[in-house]
Amino acid sequence: MGLFATKPYEVGNSILVEEAYSWVTFRDNGPNICHTCFKFSKSLKKCSQCKFARYCGLDCQKKAWKENSHRWECKAIASSVEAKIPSIVRLAALFLFRALNSNDKDIRLVDRCRSFPYSYSNMDSRSDENDVDVLSRQRVDCLVEDLLRFIRLSHYPQHEVSELFEDNFVASLIRMLEMNAHTIYDSELNTLGVGFFPKASFMNHDCRPNCVALFTGGFHSVSGKPISIHIRCIRPIEAGEEIVISYLDVCLSWMDRLEWLKEHYQFECCCSRCKEESSLTIQQYSEKLVDWKSDWKFMNRMIVLSEREERASNMLRSFEYMNEAWDKCCLCIQTLYPNSPIFHWKQIQIASRLSYLCIVLKKYSQATEYLELYMKLIRDKPEWNYFPTVALEMLKLGKLYAYLGNLASAKKYLEKAKRIYANLVVKEDPIYQNCEKALYKVSIEYDWIVQQAENDVDGQLGIA
Ligand SMILES: [Zn+2]
Ligand SMILES: [Zn+2]
Ligand SMILES: [Zn+2]
Repeated sequence: MGLFATKPYEVGNSILVEEAYSWVTFRDNGPNICHTCFKFSKSLKKCSQCKFARYCGLDCQKKAWKENSHRWECKAIASSVEAKIPSIVRLAALFLFRALNSNDKDIRLVDRCRSFPYSYSNMDSRSDENDVDVLSRQRVDCLVEDLLRFIRLSHYPQHEVSELFEDNFVASLIRMLEMNAHTIYDSELNTLGVGFFPKASFMNHDCRPNCVALFTGGFHSVSGKPISIHIRCIRPIEAGEEIVISYLDVCLSWMDRLEWLKEHYQFECCCSRCKEESSLTIQQYSEKLVDWKSDWKFMNRMIVLSEREERASNMLRSFEYMNEAWDKCCLCIQTLYPNSPIFHWKQIQIASRLSYLCIVLKKYSQATEYLELYMKLIRDKPEWNYFPTVALEMLKLGKLYAYLGNLASAKKYLEKAKRIYANLVVKEDPIYQNCEKALYKVSIEYDWIVQQAENDVDGQLGIA
């Protein structure tokens, strides 16, 4: 299954806008996010019964109660330790309540779950179960238990759901949502929650996608706007071509993508980019006698340590570990594997992390150096320029230069970022506004300075 274009599309075209069918916010986001429109606010109203659900206003509360099935789940939340309910379990319950309660056409969605393979081993042709399969099956079994408990505690008429609980239906439902639901993030790429979008869920993955998914909702402009997915075209698409997005950060190397997709989606990607990068990698490394895998492991180890220190707020230690990863990566590219795509992408990834750590540590000019390297590394790949991750780095770099007083460079990067965002988001999006405002300020200062310089030159020449 997949989604296919019935007519040609150009860069920036909007291909699909779809409201979420069911959705939940992530618990980690704290108490300040409206559970319906994801608007950030410090004065949200709590649901008087469960004291858990929060809304920015009456419209959002009504929408949650009616459309997102809060009227069924409220009691289940009130009578369980809400901290213990995994997001996917709540999402599955809300999905089920809505699908069972609406008109006939939603039965198609229920049937879609029913036919979904409920365990990893029956997802592909491998018949023998390995340790990973056993572990993931145990994990799904736990989620099934949680979901059954949640539904039993809910207000939903129990006799209507009991028949669905046979033949691994619940496991299929959980697997379907794990594979097909979308993580919801704002335009600064902060994750906010997870939602199920029936049409968008048909889109397959490609590491060289022709579209990107962005989201709009209350965090976006006005309150009460439902969470919607927005699919935008980032390179020309012909009629009949499959519409594909990337399930992961496109700036990851082939090795990292391989591992991530296996862990989260249990498939091996065979897109054109993976084929190119894997054949280059294997060809290159089979000629080398050196053990590249030990370098690779060392880098990953440093990155893991850096992330651990970051979580513990030891930013300086985190920076030091990331620096070690960087040194190793540069050494590998310079001396051992100059054309290697996997080390090349790793370098892009580390440069981005280092620039972030530099900003946290207030090493602003060093941060611009890493971001310049990032831009240099990404420059020979024009098709990557339309990714929200790249646009965000450009915006950051532009703002850093503005802060440091390098107005010419600030203007250059802010203009680039604005150009990309114009194709990705609507003009009301906070990131677009943010970009436009920064560019406006920088342009005024820049023009003034240029004007002054011209006046000075003219003055010296005795013209004015
Ligand atoms: Zn709201
Ligand atoms: Zn409630
Ligand atoms: Zn791929």
